[in-house]
Amino acid sequence: MRSWWYADLTWPELRDAAASGTGVVLPIGSTEQHGPHLAVSCDVDLSSALAHAIAEENDLLVAPPITYGYRSRPLSGGGQTFPGTISVSARTLMAVVEDVLVELMRSGFKRLVLLNWHYENANFIYEAAVLARERSPHADGVRIMVVEAAFAGLSEHAMEVMFEGDFQGWDVEHAAILETSLMLHLCPEKVLFDRAVDDASARHPSYDLVPAPDDFIPASGVLWKATLATAEKGAVVWPEIVAGLAVSVAREL
Ligand SMILES: [Zn+2]
Repeated sequence: MRSWWYADLTWPELRDAAASGTGVVLPIGSTEQHGPHLAVSCDVDLSSALAHAIAEENDLLVAPPITYGYRSRPLSGGGQTFPGTISVSARTLMAVVEDVLVELMRSGFKRLVLLNWHYENANFIYEAAVLARERSPHADGVRIMVVEAAFAGLSEHAMEVMFEGDFQGWDVEHAAILETSLMLHLCPEKVLFDRAVDDASARHPSYDLVPAPDDFIPASGVLWKATLATAEKGAVVWPEIVAGLAVSVAREL
């Protein structure tokens, strides 16, 4: 392929790619505060980089990403009180993902992957996949893989390297050790590491409240210890995330 970025190609190239069985991976992220040290593009950067890392091996073009995600929730993303975050409603997100999938099917692509990197998008993109297949007249033979948390299957070794025995849960790994380490590894120029802080909400119960009380929301927008992040941790864990996803895609599509 001349480029694995879908948007770099011409329509005859895309027609031919679909006809030859090439698939498409759609990165899905957010435009969301990620503390004082990471750009609001963090989730889009990571989902796009991951998609591109598996593109050639899995014969998948990387579609232009979905850059707006579902509402940031206080206990897993800091919530909607931070200036800078731009979220969309669940019905908007579902509608956009569904429409994009229907268009990809119309072009003849049959191997499709939704690759999410924003906790709150889960379920809604699965629903969009179901609705798109139901709606499209070109759904015969189409398979859609829905990856809601590409990092969730890390080995014990990788978890130990990353969290050093003190893993607090994926919901609070927002702008914290994992995301900061991966960004330091992949695009250090986008990390203001001297501004990284360790933070947590004063309370983190197993339920949610609307509206969210102030003590659910850490002032910095960092939900755990960003200062424990290193580029070296990112360098160990990233290849494992890439390899794990590539194997899963090869198995299913
Ligand atoms: Zn994130």
